[in-house]
Amino acid sequence: MTGLKVDIKKRSNHVILASQSNLKFRETLPIKWGAANALERGPVVASNTNPKARNAIGGHSGSYTVYRALSIASGKFPALHKPDLHNTQSPVPLGPYSQWSEPLKMVTVDPWGLDPQLHFKDLFTQGYDIRPTISVTQAHLQIPEINEAIEKGRLKIDGKIIKENHDVRVTKVAIDPVWYLPGIAQRLNVDEGDLRRILFQETGGMYPEFITRPDLKVWLPPIGSSTAYIFGDAQDLAKPEVELTCRVHDECNGSDVFGSDICTCRPYLMYGIEDAARTAQRGGVGIIVYYRKEGRALGEVTKFLVYNARKRQEGGDTAATYFHRTECVAGTEDARFQEFMPDCLHFFGIKKIHNLHSMSNMKYDAIVKSGIEVVNRISIPDDLIPQDAQVEMEAKKAAGYFTKEPKKTKEALKKVKGRNIDE
Ligand SMILES: [Zn+2]
Repeated sequence: MTGLKVDIKKRSNHVILASQSNLKFRETLPIKWGAANALERGPVVASNTNPKARNAIGGHSGSYTVYRALSIASGKFPALHKPDLHNTQSPVPLGPYSQWSEPLKMVTVDPWGLDPQLHFKDLFTQGYDIRPTISVTQAHLQIPEINEAIEKGRLKIDGKIIKENHDVRVTKVAIDPVWYLPGIAQRLNVDEGDLRRILFQETGGMYPEFITRPDLKVWLPPIGSSTAYIFGDAQDLAKPEVELTCRVHDECNGSDVFGSDICTCRPYLMYGIEDAARTAQRGGVGIIVYYRKEGRALGEVTKFLVYNARKRQEGGDTAATYFHRTECVAGTEDARFQEFMPDCLHFFGIKKIHNLHSMSNMKYDAIVKSGIEVVNRISIPDDLIPQDAQVEMEAKKAAGYFTKEPKKTKEALKKVKGRNIDE
């Protein structure tokens, strides 16, 4: 395979336009999405060290692609750097699970992007620059709410899941998005050609291959990744007979990190972590999957505008108008597309969730529709809801989010109010 040799001193300044015809080279490996094993499926090659070997649209590292470009442009990063993957492999064996080879079961995750240096060893030897899109490591968590749960006797120290110093032991998994366009189109029930055209237009023409290279079916979108935190044995996730507690959580920086009290995101997340740890302690397994979909995937700028509009509207911030205000500002209530969310669960081989921590019907429906059985749905305990977040909570319950309580009437919803903008 001498054709893979590239000048390692400097990347050529020559630009290959994606619109140039016939860009299939003999180094370009085919991808057979959903095939039974790694070699038959073929690796996703999106690195730039040898453009002739690329078989995907876009670049690695999601939104951080742009920072890599800046580093290269400023001379701080060698353009032809290939990662040394020695000792980087997962400390826990994961997969392959049956879902990995079910056609279109996962269309936003590449399961073989975990430890490709092991799955595609021969191709690495031949010089292919294949990059991991999933990585796994182990860690200890130190969380104030967990300290409180231990002090109040809700969690116990067992020396295994929770250490003497209150550290919680976890396995954490980072998952970069790898999208299979025909599968995305099918799940959205749209034509692949229309999808590619609109992706091209809405990214400002960022990826001409959407239009010019219909043979390229895989795209690495410039969006945030997902992260899973696993409590207990990660391999137990794939065993339906082992009790599994799961929270699928969409990012809310204001609440999750800074403790902003307008929503229930951090309290619900922390309750999920507490319950996941407790499940692991009684012989089960817990998982929190954290999706970078800030502000219902409308972004934080939009989210703050909506907060202002909610608080300034006539009658104040009420549960009755909660969803409407988002739609007025953003054009839609929600852009998260939960139909892709279960892909991360299938990566872990999950078939049955005993305790699902989510009140969202969109999440529940997506999980069940994807073939995962859900036994119990767990809503956030009332005493964990901040006062200003009652507006969100009551609006969601009224809109049909899961709860064991009766729905409030429209009049009653008007009475659930948040703080004014200047309070
Ligand atoms: Zn929130």
